[in-house]
Amino acid sequence: MTIFEKIITGEIPADIVHQDDLCIAFHDVTPQAPTHVLIIPKKCIARIGEAEEQDQALLGHLLLTAGKIASELGINHTDEGFRLVINNGKNGGESVPHLHVHLLAGRALAWPPG
Ligand code: AMP
Repeated sequence: MTIFEKIITGEIPADIVHQDDLCIAFHDVTPQAPTHVLIIPKKCIARIGEAEEQDQALLGHLLLTAGKIASELGINHTDEGFRLVINNGKNGGESVPHLHVHLLAGRALAWPPG
């Protein structure tokens, strides 16, 4: 069981900002920006590369929820903006094998990424 599954079941605590039938969102324990939230599906999908056709609505829900959370946190305006990141596999920088969308904001983020 991954650490994110333990957060879903409540086995370990997290600073939760949103929860619904399909997903849960919480502050990253090692924030890389002033705002760093992770949005994860309750369904166990290891990574985006392993999502299936039947996950289409769920994947859309994760992105829509990320936008709604950005609005709730007051960072959904174009003059400041935010970034969504999904790391996949070793070269992608994935460290937890449970799909998650990073929501990063509060500072200018470099492009291209390191
Ligand atoms: P990734 O490297 O894309 O797999 O992202 C995994 C993220 O999970 C990292 O940014 C970690 O800081 C974060 N993380 C790991 N454990 C926890 C935890 N218990 N609570 C919140 N965030 C966590």
